[in-house]
Amino acid sequence: MKDVVIIGGGASGLVASIFAAMNGNKVTILEKNNKCGKKLLITGNGRCNYFNNDMDINHYHTDNTEQLKKIITEENNKKILNFIDSLGIVHKIKNGYYYPYSNQATSVLNALVNKAKSLGVEIINDYNVLHIKKENHFIINDNIKAKNLIIAAGGKAYAKTGSDGSSYILASSLGHKINKPLPSLVKLTGNVPKKWAGIRSDVIVSLYENDKFIKSEAGEIQLTDYGISGICVFNISHFVSKGLSENKKEEVFINFAPFLKTDLITYLSAKKDLTISQILEGFLNYKLVNIILEKSHISKDSYFINLNNEEKNKLNNLVTSFPVLITGTKSFDEAQVTTGGVSFKEIDENMQSKIIPNLYIIGEAVDVDGDCGGYNIGFAFISGMIAGKSIKGDKNA
Ligand SMILES: Cc1cc2nc3c(=O)[nH]c(=O)nc-3n(C[C@H](O)[C@H](O)[C@H](O)COP(=O)(O)OP(=O)(O)OC[C@H]3O[C@@H](n4cnc5c(N)ncnc54)[C@H](O)[C@@H]3O)c2cc1C
Repeated sequence: MKDVVIIGGGASGLVASIFAAMNGNKVTILEKNNKCGKKLLITGNGRCNYFNNDMDINHYHTDNTEQLKKIITEENNKKILNFIDSLGIVHKIKNGYYYPYSNQATSVLNALVNKAKSLGVEIINDYNVLHIKKENHFIINDNIKAKNLIIAAGGKAYAKTGSDGSSYILASSLGHKINKPLPSLVKLTGNVPKKWAGIRSDVIVSLYENDKFIKSEAGEIQLTDYGISGICVFNISHFVSKGLSENKKEEVFINFAPFLKTDLITYLSAKKDLTISQILEGFLNYKLVNIILEKSHISKDSYFINLNNEEKNKLNNLVTSFPVLITGTKSFDEAQVTTGGVSFKEIDENMQSKIIPNLYIIGEAVDVDGDCGGYNIGFAFISGMIAGKSIKGDKNA
């Protein structure tokens, strides 16, 4: 009989294993892949952005915000950062994002695996958990017995790294409610001009759902032949995924001139000696200028003073509020996280199931997802720490 079995050797499972082992438990990780942490290695473009300076709860989406406030606390943030430091990981912070100083996700993964191994954590690779039975203890795949079980098998995004939605099947077989998993931090598809593919621009995107304002985000947008991408787009994709699943109309308006201190009309009218296209090319990619002028039926060589009011309004709208009707999101295979998952309402502040004693569910498996910027690994780490700490082993019982 094992004290603690953890399903999944990713970000949350590895951290949970370390804290549970430090508590005097005999811990085993069952990992489906031939090694732990495949997803961790590709995070932050291989650099692993694991935390953020601003851990405000508003950067998260969940079905239980009150509970999340008890998890993402200043105290826990400090504890997890101290823990990462204690592994020998030197951090650097760029625009609030935490990275290992080495710029390599392998530094973080190796430090976690080495620490787990040094504490005697057993890691069984190539072990796919297919089913769990609960009697007095847990029975995994009919052969491994455990007093405590932690489901840390991740979400559904980027399944080639191992997390293919197993968490939901296993948790629901034990009676847990699963909120519909949907892709998030994902590219959006929409009715867009194909010719704008390849353009990048600093913008503000504003999301409207059924004509109601939802959220604005500033950042670099990537315009593609199928739609829009970039961090600012990822950070609104949670709402889009949910809205589309409820058949809501999702529309994004792009402000291509967020640097303007005045309104566009005043800006254009002040530049009397330049044509419209010359003014616009002063801050926009020429391909985008052509698209905007075509759409507003304005000739390239026109001067602002010669435009009628309708043309001026059209131009203003397309530059500062270019509409994109969203038709969908890219699939889970291209999403960074899953929104939805095991309802957080059924998990207590120790990350323990309120339904089955000694069952813990952590990381992306839970209905908690964050913005870009280290929030998802941050939650995986903190929830792993809390679960591991709260399982008292013989030494600490
Ligand atoms: C391309 C990409 C970039 C990202 N970049 C960032 C970033 O920079 N910052 C950030 O905060 N977040 C980032 N994320 C999100 C982040 O990686 C995840 O939210 C985080 O890894 C979740 O941790 P986890 O432990 O819950 O799940 P995972 O890290 O996915 O680990 C789950 C583990 O469980 C194993 N497993 C699954 N099913 C079974 C089973 N049945 N039996 C045994 N083992 C199983 C899997 O093989 C896997 O190793 C990124 C995600 C992607 C895809």
